[in-house]
Amino acid sequence: MSVVDRQEWDVVVVGAGGAGLRAAIEARERGARTAVICKSLFGKAHTVMAEGGIAAAMANANENDNWRVHFRDTMRGGKFLNQWRMAELHAQEAPQRVWELETWGALFDRTKDGRISQRNFGGHEYPRLAHVGDRTGLELIRTLQQKIVALQQEDFKETGDYESRLKVFQECTVTRVLKEDGRVSGVFGYERESGRFFVLEAPAVVIATGGIGKSFKVTSNSWEYTGDGHALALLAGAPLLNMEFVQFHPTGMVWPPSVKGILVTESVRGDGGVLRNSDGKRFMFDYIPDVFKDKYAETEDEADRWYEDPDHNRRPPELLPRDEVARAINSEVKEGRGSPHGGVFLDVSTRMPAEVIKRRLPSMYHQFKELADVDITAEAMEVGPTCHYVMGGVAVESDTAAARGVPGLYAAGEVAGGMHGSNRLGGNSLSDLLVFGRRAGWHAAEYAAGLAGARPVVDDGQIDSAAAEALRPFSAESEIEEPKGGPPENPYTLHQELQQAMNDLVGIIRREPEMKQALEKLAELRVRARRAGVEGHRQFNPGWHLALDLRNMLLVSECVARAALERTESRGGHTREDHPGMDRKWRRINLLCALTDPTGGLAATDPVRGQIALTRETTEPVRADLLALFDKEELVKYLAEEELYE
Ligand code: FAD
Repeated sequence: MSVVDRQEWDVVVVGAGGAGLRAAIEARERGARTAVICKSLFGKAHTVMAEGGIAAAMANANENDNWRVHFRDTMRGGKFLNQWRMAELHAQEAPQRVWELETWGALFDRTKDGRISQRNFGGHEYPRLAHVGDRTGLELIRTLQQKIVALQQEDFKETGDYESRLKVFQECTVTRVLKEDGRVSGVFGYERESGRFFVLEAPAVVIATGGIGKSFKVTSNSWEYTGDGHALALLAGAPLLNMEFVQFHPTGMVWPPSVKGILVTESVRGDGGVLRNSDGKRFMFDYIPDVFKDKYAETEDEADRWYEDPDHNRRPPELLPRDEVARAINSEVKEGRGSPHGGVFLDVSTRMPAEVIKRRLPSMYHQFKELADVDITAEAMEVGPTCHYVMGGVAVESDTAAARGVPGLYAAGEVAGGMHGSNRLGGNSLSDLLVFGRRAGWHAAEYAAGLAGARPVVDDGQIDSAAAEALRPFSAESEIEEPKGGPPENPYTLHQELQQAMNDLVGIIRREPEMKQALEKLAELRVRARRAGVEGHRQFNPGWHLALDLRNMLLVSECVARAALERTESRGGHTREDHPGMDRKWRRINLLCALTDPTGGLAATDPVRGQIALTRETTEPVRADLLALFDKEELVKYLAEEELYE
């Protein structure tokens, strides 16, 4: 067995986006020797792509804002399926996390009187997104990296080694969480460049690997987002929560084909951009659902007045939560009122002077100019829904971010479930990363310290099986006996077929027969994936990397499809054409996905029958003082009959 490196740490953080870096900083500050592992270059994570901003009720732009209003907006956006304690902690702690970033060197845009500027976003009652133009994620990551370097410099002064207490392993992929007696004992992975295997032994592992978008054909996500952390948790024995909820962002680029899916930030609408169909109509006024009727403008005049006087006018319906806007665009296109390339028009050119557009939306200006040869200061953009974010994820304890059922395992950021319920509000992810990244790092460090001399030991047998699993694509032809027949499969072909199936059959609008068809297709792909073969060596071999990522995408896709088939209602990021309404009975139900083989081995499971078992659990009742923040008439729209009675 060819493990080249075996090191010991107290806490290992898998993922170096906002959640992972915030967790690592916290763990290190609490005394844990902490390693961070990331699949791509350090600093290149989804977080860096975040454009719009960080949602935090700092009340800089409207003094009526506070954590309670933010909590209410988050619960409404998630259609009350949020793990309410997470939503509470998030709303309460987000402002502190933003101010803390500033003390670490972040330079946010300012108001005229020098405070952190906050912008409007869909579903947020007040302007709430702290931002840096439309490059907020870049500033967030830059600041966290700078903080990490500062901590390493402190360590150097004390120990003579920059990496003695905090080390980043970049361009490395983790393929397994290792365990001893049910507790976490470390991780197994490989260096992407050399292909060499490594083991980091640690009693606490924080998973912060982000999303799953690469299972879908049209997505805003980049190549890393293959659901690795979701799969790592499942394979380690931790359940995933409510995986049916996948957010399709309403505005991705639709043209040219090579850039289809790339995000057009919601700030375009927050700053005054409007959506029009091919008849030139601002169609969103026709799509305000009953639950939001009293909060959104009914006429264009009122909507436009809101930008200047939000206290006396209702907000424009372009700023409804993302699920509502995405469905509306989908309907317009379906009804034949779409733009030439199958989207709708998003226009800022008639709404703001060119220099304001270039100042407030610099990335969007360049993105369209360079990728589509469209000048957004002079003409409308063409946009359509794109798979963007997964609300479902690792089921965690709200306060500690501990993954359920696996001592020593933690999850934070997009990979964790619960916080956003059935639909995430824009800007609530960056704040989620900081709030729960910190909490995960804190509790992981505490857990590791509490074990003192009784740390789990890494079992060599597990290392051997993880290595054999990783090497399997090199021997697809010669060694694999079952399933017999057929040459090795090309991982790229399998990936394309998976993406197409998920896009077409479990996408933005779902129907029972199509989801059943998707499950059949997934069964076929699982069988074929056992023969996924690659040529060449382990030295930088992207085909091999993809062959390994396929395991994760297939697991996660099965979770999404099974849960979507089970939930017979429409709520947030899950729309059933055959069950169009939100059903209050379903508010009380969480769907949990676990592996059918609890030992975490996949070879033994029947690929046709499936690898995922689904169970229902009753959600915890929302605490009374939090319910009291809502009008009774509003609660009647969301809560199940028995909850109202209680
Ligand atoms: P990420 O930032 O996605 O980082 C994941 C990390 O895990 C990476 O370092 C990756 O390399 C690593 N990783 C993955 N798998 C492995 C593995 N197997 N082994 C080792 N490492 C691994 N949200 C907002 O709140 N506001 C916004 O304005 C906003 N804009 C967005 C714009 C775009 C284009 C996109 C795509 C998303 C946007 N979001 C926004 C969402 C938000 O950016 C993400 O949800 C968030 O950044 C996820 O952060 P994270 O820390 O959970 O993971």
